[in-house]
Parts: sequence; C-alpha cells; structure tokens
Amino acid sequence: MPLLLRGSEESRESLTQQDPFNHITHIHHSRSLTLLQNLRMSNHVIVREVGLRDGLQSIKTILPTAQKLEWISAAYAAGQREIEVGSFVPARLLPQLADTAELVAHAKTLPGLVASVLVPNFKGAERAIEVGADAMLIPVSASSAHSAANVRKTPDEMIAAIAQIRTARDAAGSKTIIEVGMSTAFGCTIQGDVSEDEVIRLLHAALDAGAERLGLADTVGYADPAQVRRLFEKAFRALGTQSGKLCCGHFHDTRGLALANTLAALDVGVRRFDASLAGIGGCPHAPGASGNAASEDTVFMLERMGYDTGIDLTVLLKLRQRVAVWLEGEPLRGAVWRAGVPKSLSLSL
Ligand SMILES: [Zn+2]
Repeated sequence: MPLLLRGSEESRESLTQQDPFNHITHIHHSRSLTLLQNLRMSNHVIVREVGLRDGLQSIKTILPTAQKLEWISAAYAAGQREIEVGSFVPARLLPQLADTAELVAHAKTLPGLVASVLVPNFKGAERAIEVGADAMLIPVSASSAHSAANVRKTPDEMIAAIAQIRTARDAAGSKTIIEVGMSTAFGCTIQGDVSEDEVIRLLHAALDAGAERLGLADTVGYADPAQVRRLFEKAFRALGTQSGKLCCGHFHDTRGLALANTLAALDVGVRRFDASLAGIGGCPHAPGASGNAASEDTVFMLERMGYDTGIDLTVLLKLRQRVAVWLEGEPLRGAVWRAGVPKSLSLSL
C-alpha cells in the first residue's frame, strides 16, 4: 500500500511527462501489455526478488528445496509478484540451483506470480520453455571481456542465441517472455570502461533478435547515479517507440550505491527493480562484496516515497528473519532490518 507522503503528486506528474511507456506501440504478449499499461497509469513499482538466484548462486550454503519453496510462498504472501526462482545451468556448475524446475512448478501454483529463470544458453531456454516459466532472463554482457569469461561467447554470439531461442519459443507456442539483462552495462572488472554506444547497439540488437523486455545491470557495482540516469535516458531516446521495453534496473551494492542507483533509474521512469532479500549474494570478481540491493530496503525506500510496491514490509521482514536462520554464517545485509521500521510509518507497513 502506498503511504502517500509529501511529494507523491509532484512525482506522479513528472512521471507522466517522462514516462517511457507512453511510447509503446507494439507488445508481443497481452500479459506484457496489461502490465506495462498498469505501470504507466499507476504509481506501482515492481521489486523482483532475485535472492533465490543471484543471491544463492553466490554463497556457499546450499539451501534445501523445502526451504526455497517456503521462501517463495512467504514472499508471495508478503505481496511479491515477480520472483526469479533459479537458473537453468548444469548442476555441476551451480549445485545451489539444481532444483529450479521444481521451484517453477511450485511458483505456477501461486496465482498471478511471475516466475522467471535465468538461462545462459539455448539448452537452458529449452528447459525454461518445457517447464513453462513465465519469463526467461538471458544475460548479455556489454563487455566482451566479461562475456568471454562468463559464457565463453562474444556479445554478438549471445545475440544470435537470442534469435534462436525466440524461434524455438514461438515454434513451441510457449508464452515464456524473453527478457535480456544487459550485464556489465556500467563497467566491468576485467575490461574497465564499457562504451555506452556499445550498450545501446546491443539493446537494439537484442530487440531485433526477438527480446521482449530489456534491463540494464550493474553486475559489479561500478555504477553511480549520474551514470545510471544518463545511460537509461540515452537508451530510452535511442530505442524510441520501443523504449517501454527497457523496463528493469539491476544494481549490486558492491560499493554501497545500489539504492542511490535505484533512485536515479526511478527518476527517469524505470518501474521494475531486481533486489535480493537481506542483500544476499556477492560478486565473483570481488570476494566479500555485497549482493544486490536489499529487497526490504528497496521496498522501504519506495513506499516511504509514496510508491506502491504491493509488498507488506512487516511480512517481508518476518521472512527475512527465517532466511537469516537458514543461511546462518553467511553475510547478510540491509539497513531497515538493523534499525527497524520507524514508528511513524506503522500505517500500512
Ligand atoms: Zn546480478
């Protein structure tokens, strides 16, 4: 529920002026269309939970399937309606995520829940289609060096894989949405700077290849708010009538700027953010680094500003407490958890 604090009218007005979703002319799935229309007309912001994928893949503890199922159900009860439940990669590479199919099956029993999975290649996409995931997230690195290290492919080879996946998806009559996460869009630990023009070239290429949604990801925590604002705005302009498809921000808190970057993207019209409960996760290139923005802190900031996430923070914090017990010994983060919810905010939170 929105808290409707000061400034919400003003921000709503500026949203209408800048809202990239105004430009939408064609969306493949009616579900996406409804979603985007809702986003345009309301003050609604989606916080997609990625702790079960981005978070758990980066820590040592292998969470038992039963607890992951409990996590999904509890996140749903808290009001989360988009959850990235896992990844279709070989279990020998990521044993933490070996039960992804089972998690999708469970997520599909919860009405209105959009369950996404990460798929790094065609084989993974086949699995996502087979199990009926609502969305598959295909990572494309804007940095060639990161792409080579991460998936042993060039960014353009990944784009070619997207085209193949789109063909297979359509041929199967599947409704699994194809979303591209442009990783290292703001910089790369191996390559250093990543050219903004290259990011935009790849966004265009991903759409041409059949991607239906795009997101920009700060995989290694290099982004700053000015850069986030600049790159999203540049990309919205470049994508023109398709700018509404660029609809997700994914920020790691490696250098403490995840929430500031979230706010910068929010200001230029982004209405979906990935976040990880308790900030679980890390960075493969920076041992000891933080994971994504903490879901509970993201929800707190948005609700406090008058946006509606549909998420009950109190229920989410109770889930965090359980997850903290399951993941004992792992580093957990989040400021709201430590400080508590302010008394003046007891309203609907
Ligand atoms: Zn990430």
